[in-house]
Amino acid sequence: MFNKVWDWFSSDLAIDLGTANTLVYAKDRGIIVNEPTVVAVHTGVKGMDRVLAVGREAKEMLGRTPGSIKAVRPMKDGVIADFEVTQEMLKYFIHKSLSGSKLIKPRIIISIPYGITQVEKRAVKESAEQAGAREVYLIEEPMASAIGAGLPITEPSGNMIVDIGGGTTEVAVISLGGIVFSKSEKVAGDRFDEAIATYIKKKYSLLIGERTAEQIKIQIGNAYPFEDEVKTIEVKGRDLIAGAPKIIEVTSDEIRDALADPVSRVVEAIKVALEKTPPELAADIVDNGIILAGGGSLLANLDILIKEKTGLPVSLAEDPLTCVVRGCGKALESLSLLRQVTTLS
Ligand code: ADP
Ligand code: MG
Repeated sequence: MFNKVWDWFSSDLAIDLGTANTLVYAKDRGIIVNEPTVVAVHTGVKGMDRVLAVGREAKEMLGRTPGSIKAVRPMKDGVIADFEVTQEMLKYFIHKSLSGSKLIKPRIIISIPYGITQVEKRAVKESAEQAGAREVYLIEEPMASAIGAGLPITEPSGNMIVDIGGGTTEVAVISLGGIVFSKSEKVAGDRFDEAIATYIKKKYSLLIGERTAEQIKIQIGNAYPFEDEVKTIEVKGRDLIAGAPKIIEVTSDEIRDALADPVSRVVEAIKVALEKTPPELAADIVDNGIILAGGGSLLANLDILIKEKTGLPVSLAEDPLTCVVRGCGKALESLSLLRQVTTLS
C-alpha cells in the first residue's frame, strides 16, 4: 500500500552501465536514455579534469580531440578505469532522466559488469545516492540479461546466457535465481573493431580509426559466410606510405578473416563454460539452448558459428542491445524478483 503511494510520486529508474552503452529505463516511460558510455574531459592547468560532454556528443569526439581534451570510456574493459569520471557520468545520466519529474527520490537499480570489485560496486552505489537515489540496488549483468531475454531464471533448470558487449563477453549459467557459473572474457565488440583496423593496416597499409572499424563491422562483418553473397564496403583512411587520405574497397570475406581470432576466443569462452557446468544443468542447456545477448551478438552469423562449434541450439535474445536494461526494469517492477536477484553489497 505504502509502496503504491510512493510509486505515484517517484520515478524509479533502471540503468545498464555498459562498457559501450549506457541505457536508462523509467517505470511507465520505457527507455529514456540510450547513449555511448563515453565522457570527454578537459584537463586544466592544475591537472584538474572537467567534464565537457557525456554520451553521444563525447563519442563524436573520440579520436578527434586536441591535446588538452580527451574522450574516455571509463568502463572500457568491464572494470572502472576512472572512478571520478564514472561517477560524473552516472550523475549526469541520472539527472537527465529525472529532470522535471516527481517529488520523491527514486529507487534505482543498476546493472554492473560481472566481476567488478566490491570497491567499484560501492563507488557506483554512492554516485547514484549522491545523484538523488532513495535506494540503490545492484544487479549483475548476466542476471539482468537473462531476465531481459525472458529466461525462466527462478526455475530449477539451467539456462546459459552469453552477453557479448563492447569490452567483455560474459557467459553465465543461471538456475533458481542465481548465477551457478560465470566467466568473463575481455574479448567482445571492441576487439572485433581492433582486429578489423589491424587487418586493414597490415594488408592495405591504411590507417583507420576505431569508429570506422566499427562501421565496417556493423555493415559487412560476419562470423560465418553469407549464403551465396559477398558484400563490399568502401573504406576511407590514411595511407601509411603516402601519408594522404585514401579509399579502398574491402569484402565481407576479408572481414570474416580479420575477425576470426577474436570470434574464436568468444566461442572458446562458451566451450570452457560448458565444460565447467554441472552435469544436470548441462543437460538442461542441451534442451534449452544458448541465448545470445548484447550488441556484439548482432555480428552477422555469429549464432550460426556458435551453433556449429558447440552442437547446441543457439538463439538471439529479442533486441540484444536493450536486453539488460529491460531485465533491470522487470526486476524493478517486481519486489520479490528484485530481492532475489540483486547483490547484497
Ligand atoms: P555493453 O553492454 O558492453 O555496453 P552493448 O551490448 O551495448 O555493450 O554492445 C556494444 C557493442 O555491440 C559494440 O562493440 C558495437 O559495435 C556492437 N554492435 C552494435 N550493433 C552491432 C551490429 N549490428 N553488428 C555487430 N556489432 C554490433
Ligand atoms: Mg551490456
